[in-house]
Amino acid sequence: MTAGTAKELKVRHLDPKKRQGLVVVITGDGKGKTTSALGMALRACGHDMRVGIVQFMKGDMYAGEWDGVKKIEGDIELLATGMGFVGLGGNSFSFEEHREAAQKALELVRARMAEKRYDLLILDEINNALKLGLLDLDQVLSLLSARPFELHLVLTGRDADPAVMEIADTVSEVREIKHAFRRKIEPQPGIDY
Ligand code: ATP
Ligand code: MG
Repeated sequence: MTAGTAKELKVRHLDPKKRQGLVVVITGDGKGKTTSALGMALRACGHDMRVGIVQFMKGDMYAGEWDGVKKIEGDIELLATGMGFVGLGGNSFSFEEHREAAQKALELVRARMAEKRYDLLILDEINNALKLGLLDLDQVLSLLSARPFELHLVLTGRDADPAVMEIADTVSEVREIKHAFRRKIEPQPGIDY
């Protein structure tokens, strides 16, 4: 079977009786959290949905999705807001600067949410930002409770907070069984970033 649009292919098209936004958490120590969220973005584009991706924390390292999303015919906006890895050597920013960046990103998310700019909003690495104290739990919880009814929210990153998982509709844990990194294989473009 070849790929094609839903109209070209005479296939069944499910339409839920009731549309409702879901909160999805992708956490765990294995590889596949961010790429899982990007997979949902790709799917949503097929449904002509408007997608927002806000990446917390890692903005100083190039990732293929930054340009990849521009090559998809769809309404995807990707905002990389971080200033690199927090607390790792080689990063000259202070904790306060990282926190300020995360706080600004959160403000942006609130504003976009209020204007109902997206149907799917991915908050990439927000779980880590919360764990590290760049965001506070009550801020994230109040964001969740302020979401429009039909908005899908995806929160990725290790160490998701139990209170966030409690509210979520779908929670998946990606568990590391193996990672090439452990065999000293360098991160590879297209797979790791
Ligand atoms: P991906 O972006 O590939 O879906 P991820 O979002 O699940 O990965 P992160 O914790 O955000 O994982 O880490 C991003 C980078 O770190 C990727 O290059 C990924 O391959 C790598 N990585 C993920 N899990 C591990 C691990 N357990 N050990 C070492 N590197 C990892
Ligand atoms: Mg990730």
